[in-house]
Amino acid sequence: MDYKKLANLLFPDLKYNVEDIEKRYPARTLTKEQVVSRFAPSPTGYMHIGNFFQMFISYNLTRVTDGIFFLRIEDTDSKREKKDAVKVVYEVLSKFGIKPDEYQSLNGEDVGGYGPYVQSQRTDIYKAYAKKLVEEGRAFPCFCKKTEGKEDVLKLREQKFAYDDEKEYDPCRNLSLEDIEEKLKNGEKFAIRLKTKNDGSQRVKFYDLIKGEIEAKANSKDFILLKNDGVPPYAFAHAIDDTLMGTTIVVRGEEYIGSTPAHIELFEALGFTPVTYCHNPLICKIGDNGNRRKISKRFDPEADMRFYFEKGYPTDSVLEYLLNIINSGFEIWRSNNPDKNWKEFKFGVKDITAVSPIFDIIKLNDISKNLIARMSAEEVYSNVLAWAEEFDKEFAKYLKENKEYSTKVFNIGREGAKPRKDIYSWSMVKEQFSYMFKTPNFEELDQEDEDSFNEFIFEYLKEFSFSSSKEEWFNKVKEVASRLGYATDNKLYKANPQDYKGNTAKACQFIRIALTGKKDSPDLYELMQILGEEETIKRLNAKKTL
Ligand code: GLU
Repeated sequence: MDYKKLANLLFPDLKYNVEDIEKRYPARTLTKEQVVSRFAPSPTGYMHIGNFFQMFISYNLTRVTDGIFFLRIEDTDSKREKKDAVKVVYEVLSKFGIKPDEYQSLNGEDVGGYGPYVQSQRTDIYKAYAKKLVEEGRAFPCFCKKTEGKEDVLKLREQKFAYDDEKEYDPCRNLSLEDIEEKLKNGEKFAIRLKTKNDGSQRVKFYDLIKGEIEAKANSKDFILLKNDGVPPYAFAHAIDDTLMGTTIVVRGEEYIGSTPAHIELFEALGFTPVTYCHNPLICKIGDNGNRRKISKRFDPEADMRFYFEKGYPTDSVLEYLLNIINSGFEIWRSNNPDKNWKEFKFGVKDITAVSPIFDIIKLNDISKNLIARMSAEEVYSNVLAWAEEFDKEFAKYLKENKEYSTKVFNIGREGAKPRKDIYSWSMVKEQFSYMFKTPNFEELDQEDEDSFNEFIFEYLKEFSFSSSKEEWFNKVKEVASRLGYATDNKLYKANPQDYKGNTAKACQFIRIALTGKKDSPDLYELMQILGEEETIKRLNAKKTL
């Protein structure tokens, strides 16, 4: 067969050939240590935590080696693509403060010398390589229509002509040049398939940075390189783009391990050196039946990155949680370096987990509580405000109008060696400090305590003086409590509880309920100072009329 002639028949008018293209993509001038890696999402309208996880591994590999992290939009599957989906990718990355070194901006401008960074703008490149493979006899046109083709293939498989248990050769690989010319004359559309060199008896070895050496059956399938609309499925675009763009490590989910032998045959057919792979484990959950399953958007709200924005998790909490599950060394590092930014953590490829991590929201909350506890009240204020501006406009308005007061509220229990650790997300702040933003309703007062509560608060109010020091204030509480029959000595109380109405703690609990509606709150004296005299007295008074 005259392959050159065939290639010209199939691709008569390409803008460039492979030589022209390769001149446009010179090798990167970096050291061996510097990693070039990328995030290559298919825009689907949301971002799955698994994709984000993979992105974050790539990002860290480049960050610690001062390499290049680029973003490539893989939008060749127009059926899957949704409006504004690309915007979602940019939004998520930018909210997390992840800025690729190279990307295409939303207005279509390429930043970086290895663009276009959007696959749908690279079809001329893919065609040029397809043409080259046809010229070299490594690819052929396939005219099967989707269903027809399938039937053809199935029939041929039955006849054991093109297929046996080992190989999956496509019937069109045997078309003559005359057949092809005829079909082209009739305007038939064609896809391009790889003509595999293997027959199912070969094996292939490849090295994976996480899993080590993997041996598998080599590809023996004539798989599609270009669909009949000229657009490549994943494999072909991956081999070409990651080579031209100088990727040194491809981080992708371990679901791609199975197709890696096909990718390796493709790299070789194209004359490229196969890229180094790092197949990351998938984040899992324990399903109802007790088995591990992949975290999925259908069942798990936390699979969609929007969840973290809506709940108002600080983005660093999510990143630190992911670092924690990627790399167990992070937890020790964090406890030894409580005040450092996670970016100072030396992330190494050797330390990436090989086991599928189980998503654990309690752990995330814990990390987040610690992180928020280290923030200043001003930082908390600005974070809560930014969250509220997007998700709770009314609260945002309140915060803006009461900045000083709100900052004081967020400062409660924050100063000192052991700051309170009760907030893990911005959406819980309003509820957590609800009593500071609206008059409470004595929510947690037990019914059987109502009379004692009324009595104590009534008497206490008579003696109350806002200007007293903390010590004077507490002495006054004890004095009123003692007068009304509460034990101020806890040992005595414990020995003979029946002799008392309660102890000082009970008396304080009444004041706490009067001021906050809750049995548990931060330091009462501090709360009163923030509420101010007028509001404190108003709240103590309100209780009388229970
Ligand atoms: N577009 C592919 C995906 O979203 C990328 C896989 C890869 O990173 O190579 O699964």
